[in-house]
Amino acid sequence: MAHVMQLPNIVIIGRNLKNRVAEVVLTASGGQPVLIITGKTAYSIYGRSVSEAIAEGADVEVHSIENEISQELDIIHKILSKRRFGAVVGIGGGRVIDVAKASAHEAGVRFVSVPTVASHDGIASPMVSAMDNNQPYSRMASMPFAIVADIDVIEKAPHRYVASGCGDLVAKYTAVRDWRLSHKVTGEYFGDYAASLAYMSAEIIFRNAKKIGERRQDSVRTVVEALISAGVAMGIAGSSRPCSGSEHLICHALGRLMEDPPLHGERCGVSTIFAALAHKAAWKKVKAALSSIGAPSNLSELGVDEQTFVKAVIMAPDIRPDRYTILHKLRLAESDVRRMLREAELS
Ligand SMILES: [Zn+2]
Repeated sequence: MAHVMQLPNIVIIGRNLKNRVAEVVLTASGGQPVLIITGKTAYSIYGRSVSEAIAEGADVEVHSIENEISQELDIIHKILSKRRFGAVVGIGGGRVIDVAKASAHEAGVRFVSVPTVASHDGIASPMVSAMDNNQPYSRMASMPFAIVADIDVIEKAPHRYVASGCGDLVAKYTAVRDWRLSHKVTGEYFGDYAASLAYMSAEIIFRNAKKIGERRQDSVRTVVEALISAGVAMGIAGSSRPCSGSEHLICHALGRLMEDPPLHGERCGVSTIFAALAHKAAWKKVKAALSSIGAPSNLSELGVDEQTFVKAVIMAPDIRPDRYTILHKLRLAESDVRRMLREAELS
């Protein structure tokens, strides 16, 4: 079977990039109209000036996201079917990037990702997250044509978002283990290169945890680069496998069980401590890194009660029965989960 890799054409990381965003977008659109999808805050701090710069070279239409995701997808679908656009640009946080990426993919239009926060690896991946309740996990879309990450803007966002991004990155520590395990048990394809790239993005966070926690110069850039590498690892693998294992299944289960769940990366981080223990790997290393970064490293910091977390772990393997992980192998009972929560000092 042919293996398809998707890579971004252009990746720019740096400071004061407003004009570079415009250049890249105009390259992507080839002079045709540009649809900008953004959020209220992102538009006022960054989107407005970027749109003005783009408008010097092409027609620009701006849509700000204010409703439920499913409603927004319908609205954007209508906008994209009325007029021919050369590029869709997402300027904002995870939700904006997800909705813009999904809409561009559906319409077959080039997508430019302009993240204003570094809260998860969707900024540079070919995946989109849950768009409806029937699909509580990521699915394949297209790799962004270009990613422009302006550190000046991302740095100004509350530390909670960068910390969440780190949670999504330490997750690769167990995701890669789950992938390798599945390869052994089910014979599923395992890509050594993609796995190594994803794993390295977790290692970089372990190494820089203290710097990130102290908000030292350029530590945000390190996180953004790692998030982009993780996204590219998915593009190389042709699936989210290198970046999403048992810890993501627990994260998705929590998302289902809770009305107002913590951020994706925050859930992933704490779930990774648990999944690392399940793998008999160095869960203490994961926990110490999250704690230095200032990300939640136990259930109370995460704001999840023990009963809900136990339910999530039990439910996790059924979220994706097709994706074998350590949780499919162990099929933990409630009493096992409670014992492990004590052992990993999670509750
Ligand atoms: Zn993730």
